[in-house]
Amino acid sequence: MEKRAEYDVITDEVAIPYEVAYGPTWTRFFEGLKNEKIYGSKCEKCNRILVPARSYCPRCFVEIKNFIEVDQEGTVISWVLTEYEYFGMPTKPPFIGALIRLDGTDVNFLHLIGGFDLSDPDNVRKRVKNGMKVKALWNDDKKGTIMDIKYFTPVK
Ligand SMILES: [Zn+2]
Repeated sequence: MEKRAEYDVITDEVAIPYEVAYGPTWTRFFEGLKNEKIYGSKCEKCNRILVPARSYCPRCFVEIKNFIEVDQEGTVISWVLTEYEYFGMPTKPPFIGALIRLDGTDVNFLHLIGGFDLSDPDNVRKRVKNGMKVKALWNDDKKGTIMDIKYFTPVK
């Protein structure tokens, strides 16, 4: 049996504000979003197109210097409806987080699916399916963040 501490404790949270420099690759990617473009990068060794753009291929460990504007439509690979709020969320629930394979790319892009009523999980399950086609819908007010894409919405 685990021995318990013989003193009282208090549970609290610690917030650690920090900044991360984007560097040239993320700068290009996020500047692209401001202009309604999604940039990926192509590994010259394995020929995979990675999105978001990366400075190196995590499979081949080679530097990547070229950027490719990728398609804004893709296929839903998997998704989850989130109804509960927790620290650090990109938006207020309910929302759908999804892995989306943008057309012509070789990795999944993590973003949101939206543009319809998310309040009833049963209706969401009827509406959202793996394999469905979606396209990026842009926010009017762009700040150079991943949320410049408001969400991906089903293609009619
Ligand atoms: Zn590679």
